[in-house]
Amino acid sequence: MLLGAPGSGKGTQAEMITRHFAIAVTSPGTILRRERDLGTPLGIKADEISKQGGLVPDEIIVYLIEDWLVLHGKDGFVFDGFPRTVKQGERLNEILQKRQTALDLAIWLEVSERTVRDRIAGRLQCRRCGFTTSLTSAGFAERPICPYCDGPLVRRHDDDASVLETRLAEFKTKTEPLLSFYEKDDALHRIDGNRDRETVFADVSALIEERMR
Ligand code: AMP
Repeated sequence: MLLGAPGSGKGTQAEMITRHFAIAVTSPGTILRRERDLGTPLGIKADEISKQGGLVPDEIIVYLIEDWLVLHGKDGFVFDGFPRTVKQGERLNEILQKRQTALDLAIWLEVSERTVRDRIAGRLQCRRCGFTTSLTSAGFAERPICPYCDGPLVRRHDDDASVLETRLAEFKTKTEPLLSFYEKDDALHRIDGNRDRETVFADVSALIEERMR
């Protein structure tokens, strides 16, 4: 699982893990954006919360994860942005126990507030496939088209500066306590997420390879 603040690079690293190791990834944020784009009641309700920077209720998130695991959870899988509360961590333990499996790796991407603010201010995301990049890379500011699927690269509604303050506050009060929740578990590894995506991925992939051996 990949844990960390908004803008810590969870989504980017998750995408690199899927491409490199062919491991299935699930991200509640991506599922919820898809539900919103489809206009489902769940997507609309969750979007109201996300737009204001809040966390979606634990029961909804756990339901989405369990549902996803039924279809995709046969082999290995990576959670991007789950769990985000201690309650979700506890529910995940129950789910893993039921599946008679254990957590291999919990990667905490540590980033400074400066990194978070800079990244979120310049973040662009493909509306179609979720590819994430920045306004400063590869001329995307002039031609905001996804290099993978030709979808439009747009700013996320919740990347707005005032919403970010609420997201950071939610992170501090609800997600950071997961650090001590997993501290006693030797699955937990902290990685400096302030560096560029390739450097971070070198550390992430070394950990995954070690676990695969
Ligand atoms: P993300 O794409 O991971 O940044 O998630 C976007 C938004 O979806 C978050 O700001 C939350 O509102 C919601 N969300 C995603 N994952 C979770 C989670 N594990 N628990 C609660 N809300 C979540």
